[in-house]
Amino acid sequence: RTRHPGIPLPVDMMVHWRNSQGIDLKDRPILLKTASDIEAVPFEPEGTDAVHADPLHPSGRARKAIEAARTPDDDVHAAITRAQAAYRDWERTPIHDRATTLERFADLLEENRIELMALCVKEAFKSIPDALAEVREAADFCRYYAYQARTDLAPRTLPGPTGERNELKMEGRGTWATVAPWNFPLAIFVGQNAAALVTGNTVVAKPAPQTPSIARKVVEIAHAAGIPEDALNLVTGGADVGAELVSDNRIAGVAFTGSTATAKRIAHTILVDEERPIIPFIAETGGINAMIVDSTALPEQVVADVITSAFKSAGQRCSAMRLLLLQEDIAEEMEEMIAGAMATLIIGDPGDPATDVGPVIDRSSYDKLMAYRETMRPRWLATTHVPEEGLFVPPTMIGLDSMDDLDKEWFGPILHVATWKGGKLAETIERVNAKKYGLTMGLHSRIARSAEIAEDLARIGNLYVNRNMVGAIVGSQPFGGEGMSGTGPKAGGPNYLPRFCAERAISVDT
Ligand code: GLU
Repeated sequence: RTRHPGIPLPVDMMVHWRNSQGIDLKDRPILLKTASDIEAVPFEPEGTDAVHADPLHPSGRARKAIEAARTPDDDVHAAITRAQAAYRDWERTPIHDRATTLERFADLLEENRIELMALCVKEAFKSIPDALAEVREAADFCRYYAYQARTDLAPRTLPGPTGERNELKMEGRGTWATVAPWNFPLAIFVGQNAAALVTGNTVVAKPAPQTPSIARKVVEIAHAAGIPEDALNLVTGGADVGAELVSDNRIAGVAFTGSTATAKRIAHTILVDEERPIIPFIAETGGINAMIVDSTALPEQVVADVITSAFKSAGQRCSAMRLLLLQEDIAEEMEEMIAGAMATLIIGDPGDPATDVGPVIDRSSYDKLMAYRETMRPRWLATTHVPEEGLFVPPTMIGLDSMDDLDKEWFGPILHVATWKGGKLAETIERVNAKKYGLTMGLHSRIARSAEIAEDLARIGNLYVNRNMVGAIVGSQPFGGEGMSGTGPKAGGPNYLPRFCAERAISVDT
């Protein structure tokens, strides 16, 4: 399927954009070579409490929730002090030079792709195609933001009365805290920091405690690309480190991707202190994402898109489908077809190129998902076999009496199915809206009017019609949600960078 970016991009971006489409699994020889290169990369999990996974078979067999190591260098207060000291020089570096540095960063990320992919596979249990997609998305973010910075951040002269010069400048705000998730430990970590840096800010970056090694490698690459060491600082650790970072009054903005609950805690921390300046907060959280399918949809395409959206990446995307809404008349047939496709999924070691679905991220996530799945046992419509050992949550399809019965995001390969009555599309969309999340929605229908209704009514960040609903592409599908799903700014879109800027209007009587 050919897709086109909505905005004009320079030729090199276009080439890159085509690259982001993922790996062709039919390309076995390349894939096998990549897999053996990845296997050869040594990996030692970081962390005080880390139980080492077998590096050759990183199935998460022995992994439990880890506390990422905090070295003295990672001291939060000192990191903010360094970032603050570096701010003036970095802010005054011309936009063009900051953008060029970001492009060099993208080049180096690509040059180091095997090592980065290996870390994604071994530390975050990403499948090989997902690991490659991470490298590509990370590089895309850098190149896209570099391009946007050059185009959009230059000072603008604005009209005014004769004898007055009016100018609008986009400047950095100071030192940002970026808090990244484990599910995109490379792409989102890079995206947040690239956006903050190219707009002239300095950064203290905190990766998820599950994925410190990936972040450490990325920061090393960023410094090698020419981002000043003190402009991009890394602190690692758990929630306590995050809390320490965002509660420091010197922080000028927070960019966060993770759970809704953590986003609310951060919002509380940064807003309540009366002495503290009011700072921007960018949050991208989860969703109860629904796909609505009517009786005109192409069944084979629906099945493929359901499998990709609900089960690939072990369902550990905030964009992933949690709720499939089938028009009553086709429900039984569709459920049967989906169950058939689920039975063909290969679940196992993420380092094996044949694997479709790997383990979930850690013991705590595994325990929560498995306990929930068990309570829903009487409602299972289909489930799959998984290897006995390891943190493998079997992809499972659960039938609900009503779509209103799902009110919580389950962050794993668990899909809920409910039905809706033909002719009630608008009402069905409103019931999804009522869940208060607003990240992604899918619609499969060959009726043009249905797509218009969805466009009109769905209160979500990303609507996907007649395709899967994951894997937003930088520059083509700006990504981010509203309501309980986030504060709205869309990563990889043309309006993202200004959120990191201070806008200064200067008026001079000449
Ligand atoms: N951007 C990713 C996607 O479109 C999801 C990001 C996330 O899970 O935080 O699938």
